[in-house]
Order: sequence, then structure tokens, then C-alpha cells
Amino acid sequence: MTNERTLKRPEVLAPAGTLEKLKTAIHYGADAVYIGGNAYGLRSRAGNFTKEDMIEGVAFANEHGAKVYVAANMVTHEGNQEGAGDFFREIRDVGISAVIVSDPALIEICAAEAPGLPIHLSTQASATNYETLEFWKNEGLERVVLAREVSMDEVAEIRKNTDVEIEAFIHGAMCISYSGRCTLSNHMSMRDANRGGCSQSCRWKYELYDMPFGAERTSLTDKGEVEEEFSMSAVDMAMIQHIPELIQNGVDSFKIEGRMKSIHYVSTVANVYKKAVDTYMEDPENYECKQEWIDELWKVAQRELSTGFYYHVPTDEEQLFGERRKIPQYKFIGEVMAYDSETKVATIRQRNHFSVGDEIEFYGPGFNHFHQTVEVMYNEEDESIDRAPNPMMILTMPVEKPVAVGDMIRKKK
Ligand code: SF4
Repeated sequence: MTNERTLKRPEVLAPAGTLEKLKTAIHYGADAVYIGGNAYGLRSRAGNFTKEDMIEGVAFANEHGAKVYVAANMVTHEGNQEGAGDFFREIRDVGISAVIVSDPALIEICAAEAPGLPIHLSTQASATNYETLEFWKNEGLERVVLAREVSMDEVAEIRKNTDVEIEAFIHGAMCISYSGRCTLSNHMSMRDANRGGCSQSCRWKYELYDMPFGAERTSLTDKGEVEEEFSMSAVDMAMIQHIPELIQNGVDSFKIEGRMKSIHYVSTVANVYKKAVDTYMEDPENYECKQEWIDELWKVAQRELSTGFYYHVPTDEEQLFGERRKIPQYKFIGEVMAYDSETKVATIRQRNHFSVGDEIEFYGPGFNHFHQTVEVMYNEEDESIDRAPNPMMILTMPVEKPVAVGDMIRKKK
């Protein structure tokens, strides 16, 4: 098949668990967002998205030249497929750009009952070779989300042998099982990982015992007590240092994991990858991954970061079995609601407690970050206050550089 050398700009695809996150992700550079979440399934319809939310989200995306995809990637048991045709027609008619599905039953229903709605194969279907991608292309699918377990060499091989669109995860949480094909959560908490309900049981702490048949159980440390509780949590993926290779290997869509993540996370991660992709596409020859992008990702990291399966099968270095490096923690404290360029005063909505004297950081789309110390701030009655304790309270403060509506503010914990 093709081995296209002309570099194609990949889309940056961000998670959007709510309408606010959808708008934030697009404002911070996402070319597309996918909606859905733990509550999302065919039965629960759009989960956090009502039909009105979807209409508003699609209108917002259209205004900004972005797309909205809907994930409907549950494993479908008998009876779950009832109403699926209506559901697919409804999302098609509100202007959703594609639906992400893994179950062949739903693919058939969508193709037959909602013609015109593009279908993407979900990562839950674990596509790991080009024959599989060709199969789904021949079934009429436009895009395949690769399994997170493919290597970079396999991505290259797949691209050489098929022209179907490739979407690949480039940032976010990994699964200790083959992407969600796991019943640990079902067993531990009766929440089905294959229907969007994973309770992340692999990341819980366990005590590890040796228990020969018929014998007393003994701790594996032989100290009567286990020193370090055992966990099976994989570290997270970050491919920020490998953007050129992903683009050169023809990945069409860079997917960021995390429908449940905060607007602080979504804005930060989308912003970084947008900047990296733009920078590379402007001048591939002289592209360099900037340290400030990596630092930025660490500000919202929740675990260690690695490259997943792209360059080798993860070793115990990429599992959170034991000691872990302390990760810098930042707190999202507010967002800019207005800015007066005459007086250089910003109106801010508080999202977490902060006080006069705190060192805070403003950031917005692009990389115009700056730090300042809070010298003074005022409540809505224009009274001077020394702290902002109330969630969502509105306050004003002078800022040292121009800011814009939608800029965010964080501070180190
Ligand atoms: S419990 Fe862990 S391994 Fe299982 S689906 Fe959830 S994240 Fe993946």
C-alpha cells in the first residue's frame, strides 16, 4: 500500500467528559474531542452530555473548526443493542463527526441504521496489525484507534500497508491488561471495565501472600508484615519527545486519554501537544522538543511518565510496584473571566483556595506563561481580601502581563 512521505498534520484529539471540558480542550488547541465517560453507554445515552449539551458542543466545535466524536465502545450484551439505531441517528443528526465503537453488533447497526455517520474502531477492539485495519476498512470504517500495546515499528508497518486513518494514544493512563479487557474491576467492585465503569482496581494496594494449598498463608517478605503493599498500576504514557516519529509514521490522530480528568489537565496537555505539532509542522528539519513542554506535562502528571509499549514491552520500571519518584503537584486555582487592558486588572473565578502572598502562574493557549506574587485582591464588593476561600467566588486583581478570557491560574501545592 502507500508509504506516503508527505507529512500530514495529525489532529490533536482531547478527552471531554463535560461540556466545559469540551470547550476548554478546543480553546487550548484540540482539533477534535471525544465525549463519553464512565456513565456513558448506549443505555445512559450521552452520560454527562444531554442532547442540548451535544448541540451546544458541536456548535462550539464548528465555530472553531474542530470535531466532536462520541465513544460508544461498550461490550454489548444481549438486549443492550436495543435502541442503538435511534441513538446513532440522534448523534448523527446533531452533527457528531464520528462514533467510536468496538462491538461488531453496534458497527452493523450503526452502518445500517445511521448511514452517513462515520465509524471509528475503538482501542477496545485491540487492533494491532494492518490486516485487521484492512478488514475494518473493508467493513466501511474510516479510522482505527490502535491498541495501546503496539510498538512504533508496528505503527510504521501498519502505515506502510494500509491507508485507513490511524489514531494512536500519545498521552495518558495505561492499563495493566490489554486496554480494558479486564475483569478485575468487575470482580472487586462490580463495575464493568468493558462498559466504561472501571474502578481502577489494579491500582489499589494489595498485601501479597504465599498460600500453598492447605497451609497457613505467609507474607512474602517473611517479616510478618508486607513492607510495601503490592499494586499492579502501570505508569502513564507521554510521547512528547517522539512527535516527529509519530508524524513520520503517518499517525493521523494523536489521542490524549482521560475523559475523567480535570480542565486543568485537559487544557495543559492539549496545549502542549498542539504546540509541539505546530512547531514540528512549521519546520520539521529544525524541530526540537522543548524542555518547557515536558515540564508543563509534569505539572499535571499523576504518575511517572514513560513511552508505554512504543519502544519496548514495559519492564518493572514502568510499573508502580514499589518506590516512586515524588511528582510535583500543582493546584488549579482560578480562571480569567475578564481583563481590562487600561487598568491591567483581571476578573477571576476562584476554583481552589489561594491567598495574598502566594506565587501563582497564569497560562493560556500557546506558551505565554508567567508567574507573579499575589500582592492584593478584591471581592465583588471591591473590598480588599487576603484570601479567596470560596469555590467559584469572583475576585479581581492587578496582573503583571496581559491575560485573556479563558486563561487559567495554578499554583504549586
Ligand atoms: S482495573 Fe486496571 S487493568 Fe483493569 S481495566 Fe481498569 S485500569 Fe485496566
